[in-house]
Amino acid sequence: MFLSRKLPLSAAAMALALAVSPSWAAGRSADAEGDKAVALLQELIRFDTTNAPGDTTKVAAYLEGLFKPYGVQTDIIVAPNGKAAHFIARLKGDGTLPPLLLAAHTDVVPAQRDSWTVDPFAAIIKDGFLYGRGALDNKGSVAIYARALLRLLEDKVKLKRDIIFLAEADEEQGQYTTSWLVQNHWDKIDAAVALNEGGGILTAPDGSVRQVNVSIADKQTLNLKLTAHGPAAHSSFPLPPMTTANGQLIAALDKIAFTETPIRLLPQTVAYLKGLARIYPGPLAGAVDRLVAAQDDAARLVAAKEVMAAHPQEAVTLSALMRDTMVVTMINAGVKPNIIPGEAEAIVNARLMPGADVYEFVDQVKRLIDNPAIGVEIVNARPKEEQAAFFRERSAIQPSSTETDLFAALDKQARRVWPKAEVLPMMLQASTDAGAWRAHGIPVYGIWPYPVDPDTFSRVHGNDERVAVASIRQGLDYIYGVLRQVAAR
Ligand SMILES: [Zn+2]
Repeated sequence: MFLSRKLPLSAAAMALALAVSPSWAAGRSADAEGDKAVALLQELIRFDTTNAPGDTTKVAAYLEGLFKPYGVQTDIIVAPNGKAAHFIARLKGDGTLPPLLLAAHTDVVPAQRDSWTVDPFAAIIKDGFLYGRGALDNKGSVAIYARALLRLLEDKVKLKRDIIFLAEADEEQGQYTTSWLVQNHWDKIDAAVALNEGGGILTAPDGSVRQVNVSIADKQTLNLKLTAHGPAAHSSFPLPPMTTANGQLIAALDKIAFTETPIRLLPQTVAYLKGLARIYPGPLAGAVDRLVAAQDDAARLVAAKEVMAAHPQEAVTLSALMRDTMVVTMINAGVKPNIIPGEAEAIVNARLMPGADVYEFVDQVKRLIDNPAIGVEIVNARPKEEQAAFFRERSAIQPSSTETDLFAALDKQARRVWPKAEVLPMMLQASTDAGAWRAHGIPVYGIWPYPVDPDTFSRVHGNDERVAVASIRQGLDYIYGVLRQVAAR
């Protein structure tokens, strides 16, 4: 057959097409566009940007090469270490509205290759999933933002505001983070409203997308180093454990690892729990009601456990949203099997509620350990004299308002792409670099713009990190729709 002919749509199909497809969607196949984002993500994963050292110079140059042909204003800002390279592209609008920022990071955490079933930097597609370090955190976002913007350029869409794309470096506990960028190049990343990583588009047990989590606040990260001392001795001498470095450290870590911190409910957490109860009525709704009504710590703890039991797919996240957390992440002691070491140390990674006073928290940890011989100090890359001001500024950050055109677009477009979904503002259990903007009063919404099932989500910073190919396609459709809504003239 040489001639193709358009078949008439049935009335029902026509109604459906009109209901779900905006006018700009008609011209191009969403899948074909999505596949370009998947291909770009594969390219990005193949740059090994493991932090440390977090060398993002090559990936920044690659991204610049994608935007240059369109005459877009670009910058690559390389930090003094010569490795952390921030890439910025600014698509110009007519200035009717103030700039919008899209931020995502290009550095990744290390991958323990032995524990992966595939090469973490080969970007292999298997059974519908694209595997690789950074697939979710956060090169998936980089690929989606970059492709959405390139599509705006290809389609010659006229913009009513500048869109700034920041592919940032050193997010994974490096030194030259966006805070450094804020101090040194604020003019290039100043915006009225922003998207950054966070939130989560979670699939229900039946595979459908029911909730699009958008984070409007982050927890604060605090690293503590615990140090214990004792005599260095021959291991044949059974010294009393509490005189040894290891014995004292073990006793302290035992308390930290097994203590249940109290339940504290912030307004955004209550709103999130009530949203979940709307989506998943039944036992969860009753448990949430009892939790909100609970009058003391003991009753709150009981009710919080009921909430987690009623919603097992998010139990660990919910536990983190309701309390300050502490996890022992590093333990270091000993040089030889037959030597009692004279020193032992551990790192405890704490995640504190917005507004928490970190020095008060350190005092609580000292009281819990109840051993003044153990040193407890804050580990932070900033010079000591700057730390107090930094922590004060971070704990004063307010949740981002949801009364913006960007939030409205995130909401409307989510319901277009995933008709059963509800958008839920939330506090993120982790911390991102959104604080750099929120501290300036700029609303930042956290979203990882691709649907994830609980198993896939749990692989962030773990082994066999992956993202579904279909999720990247949907994510591009979503973000492109959001940008059209808030920026197209
Ligand atoms: Zn990340």
